[in-house]
Amino acid sequence: MQTLADIKQEISLLIDYAAPAEKRQEAMRLVEQYETDLIALRLFHHFYSFLPEAQEDAISILRLMARRQGTFLLCATTAIDDYLYLATSEQAAFVGPLAAGLEDTEVLNFFGIASPMDFHQRFSDLDHLTVHVPAPLDDRLCPICLVADGEYHTLGCPVEVCPWCGGQLISCQCRFTQLGRASLSTEGHINAFVERLEEKGRLPFNADEDRPSYPDPTELMG
Ligand SMILES: [Zn+2]
Ligand SMILES: [Zn+2]
Repeated sequence: MQTLADIKQEISLLIDYAAPAEKRQEAMRLVEQYETDLIALRLFHHFYSFLPEAQEDAISILRLMARRQGTFLLCATTAIDDYLYLATSEQAAFVGPLAAGLEDTEVLNFFGIASPMDFHQRFSDLDHLTVHVPAPLDDRLCPICLVADGEYHTLGCPVEVCPWCGGQLISCQCRFTQLGRASLSTEGHINAFVERLEEKGRLPFNADEDRPSYPDPTELMG
């Protein structure tokens, strides 16, 4: 399992090749601002690995356009252009230049954006968008799976509270008692448990009650 420091180290090496010499320091300073945020680190790693225009470039600002269920739609601004990315704590994907808009219906629907026109109206004026806050500093987000207050955790998130016993869902014994088995060894068993869990009603993330402060989310994942 890579730690945040490992990922940052890789980005630093990538920047040596990918950013113009006079921009490297500034690029690294931005990475340092986000060194506890897996979302931004995944984006930086993708950007400096693949460079959208296949020429040296450096990100100077990251803005948040939308987020839902731990998936973030971000805009990375460079001296060349503005680029859209989708990022989760596990990976980032390049969408395209901001000016090309967002056409993918599935992505638009996911974020509750009505149409490519609606996207254009809401997001083409970057000065009105908020700068992305490093996820661990945003106390409305689950520190591990990064869903927002009131959303369901990503299944397997260690912060999810068990609706039967009030303990930690990934470590309590309820999965065994609910299914009447000593172990859950097949995908079928796990699916059966998830079905039981959804019948009972999963507990969404409650930012006021459930938020522990972990120093490094990667230590609890995987
Ligand atoms: Zn969570
Ligand atoms: Zn339980």
